[in-house]
Amino acid sequence: MQWKKTLGEMTPYKPGKSIKEVINQYQLEKVVKLASNENPYGPAPSAKKLLENGTIEIEMYPDGNASSLRKKVAQKLDVSESSLLFGGGSDEIIVMISRALLDSGKNTIMATPTFPQYAHNAKIDGAEIREVALVDGHHNLDGFLKVIDEDTSVIWLCSPNNPTGNLIPAEDLKSFLAKVPDTILVVMDEAYYEYITDPSHINTIHLLKEYPNLIVLRTFSKAYGLAAFRIGYAVGNPEVISNLNKVRSPFNVTSAGQALAEAALNDDEFIEKCSLLNREQMQRFKKYANENKLHIYDSAANFVLIEVPENGDIASEKLLQHGIIVRSGEALGTPGYIRVTVGSEDQNTGFFSAFDSLLKDAQLLK
Ligand SMILES: *Cc1c(COP(=O)(O)O)cnc(C)c1O
Repeated sequence: MQWKKTLGEMTPYKPGKSIKEVINQYQLEKVVKLASNENPYGPAPSAKKLLENGTIEIEMYPDGNASSLRKKVAQKLDVSESSLLFGGGSDEIIVMISRALLDSGKNTIMATPTFPQYAHNAKIDGAEIREVALVDGHHNLDGFLKVIDEDTSVIWLCSPNNPTGNLIPAEDLKSFLAKVPDTILVVMDEAYYEYITDPSHINTIHLLKEYPNLIVLRTFSKAYGLAAFRIGYAVGNPEVISNLNKVRSPFNVTSAGQALAEAALNDDEFIEKCSLLNREQMQRFKKYANENKLHIYDSAANFVLIEVPENGDIASEKLLQHGIIVRSGEALGTPGYIRVTVGSEDQNTGFFSAFDSLLKDAQLLK
């Protein structure tokens, strides 16, 4: 068969181990997954209630326009309904952006390491990928400006950045946007937006009026706890949204996803509580790292990138034996580290106790 040439250099996405697999493989009773930054407190309660009591017309196609959810999100964000695009997770919106704007002859700029789906899709669509190394976990936006040329089509920003967790400071973002030509789409991926508590942070949606070449991605998968239902959205200039809509498949977001996301939007209190608990638990990670002289990145999200003895592969394998699933930094472009989702109090206590034994093995326990 005549596959796209670029597929020869690619491999399918390898998901981390599931809880069930680890339980079977290691003969464990209890396993905790701190690998994919899901909400340790479960789904938003209104969504859960709807799932238990609601009804969905299963034989009917979903509303391709997500009209009801669209109205609600528009109200909540104070934007027009035509500023919104919904996707099967923000993952699918990344695909749509890539498909609509990237091609051979174009180039696209992103940090490294960052969320891998930007480069993954750019590769499939044949665009040249220009990666600018992070500096201490931060986007080097001056470095981005230096590699822009007339063929640059999309710039990807991830804030908080996955896997480091660092936030792009508001002032840096604003001065960057002022310098980027308005013929380039700037994507601001804010999958962890609801966890940000930094008082200097600005709501990027307020920048859309001034910068019509900006688009903001958010998701119901992380803080809202709806990862299984695959729903995310983009907020942007109606003209940009309308072009992206041309590549969207007609029924891309399920009826259940739309209904649950709509319900979850009512749960501000839950989101606030999760964000607060996340901050409290995050402090324990910082303290633990400091006490044990391990480097940890300054994360504004619900995960941390923390240094480990030996390397990330060995550390994550040893943690698996203790029933804790994390992501090895070796797979994320940050060797010598692991990325850990900040769990509930009990989950984190379990993590620290497993990590203690890792340090004991390496004779590093303080
Ligand atoms: C998790 C994540 C996403 C994808 O989330 P969806 O489940 O597809 O909405 C996008 N960007 C970043 C940075 C993420 O960490």
